[in-house]
Amino acid sequence: MELRICHLYPEHLNLYGDRGNVIALVKRCLWRGIDLSLTEIRLGEAPRFTEFDLIFMGGGQDREQWLIYGDLRRLKRAALLEAAESGVVILAICGGYQLFGHYYKGIAQTMDGLGLLDLWTEAGPKRMVGDIAVKVHLPELDTVLVGYENHAGRTYLGHGVKPLGRVLAGHGNNGRDGSEGAVYKNVFGSYLHGSLLPKNPAFVDYLFKLALERKYGEGVYLPPLPDMLEEKAHRAVSYTHLTLPTNREV
Ligand code: GLN
Repeated sequence: MELRICHLYPEHLNLYGDRGNVIALVKRCLWRGIDLSLTEIRLGEAPRFTEFDLIFMGGGQDREQWLIYGDLRRLKRAALLEAAESGVVILAICGGYQLFGHYYKGIAQTMDGLGLLDLWTEAGPKRMVGDIAVKVHLPELDTVLVGYENHAGRTYLGHGVKPLGRVLAGHGNNGRDGSEGAVYKNVFGSYLHGSLLPKNPAFVDYLFKLALERKYGEGVYLPPLPDMLEEKAHRAVSYTHLTLPTNREV
C-alpha cells in the first residue's frame, strides 16, 4: 500500500511543534511498511490536490497567516475544494484551520478564508492558552484527544460542519459553546497543537484508515503499533489537565 502526503506551507505554518504531526504521519507509515511520498507545497505552487491521499496544514501567528492567505485563495482554493469534495483526508490546525473557514478577523486585519468549512473566526482580547482535552465522537472513533492551544481567534460553527468534539478541559473553538474543531467529509480542523498526532495515535490511525479505504476500498487492515511512548505522552497531558476545572472565557 502507498500513501501520498502533502504538507502545505511548511515554513510559514509550523507553530508550537506542528511539524511533529508530519513526523508522526511519516513514521507510522514506515513502521508499518506502507510506502509513502511526502510533498511540501509552498507559496506560488498550484498542485492538483486530488493527487494526494492526506493533506496537512499547520498553525501560524496572524503575521504568517497574512503572508500566505492570498496565495491559498488565489492558487490553491479550487483544487483544495475539489480534493475535499472527493474525500481526500485533510487536517488543518489552528491558524490553518481558521483559514479553511469563511474569514478570520485578526487583531490587525481580516483575511478571507477558503469557505471550505462553514465557520468564521474573530480574534478576542485575551488569548486562549493551555493544555486541552477533547472528547471525540466520530464514526468508529471514540476517544479523548489531548494537546495544547494558543489562539486569539474565537471560531463559530455554521450548520455545514460538525464539531470535532466537546471540550473536557480548556477553551476549544471559542471558550463559550464547549465545541472544539470542525469536521466536514474527511476534512478535520482543530485548535490542538502539541503536536496533536504524536500523542494521539488512535487519531493518526483513524486518518490513515480513511485515506487508505478511500484508495483501496473497505476492510483495510492497519497492524497495531507498540504505542507505549505515545500513550505515556497522552497521559501526561490528560492527567494534568483533566484534574483542572474547565476554564471558560470570562
Ligand atoms: N493567529 C491565530 C490566532 O491567534 C492562530 C494562532 C495559531 O495558529 N496558534 O488565533
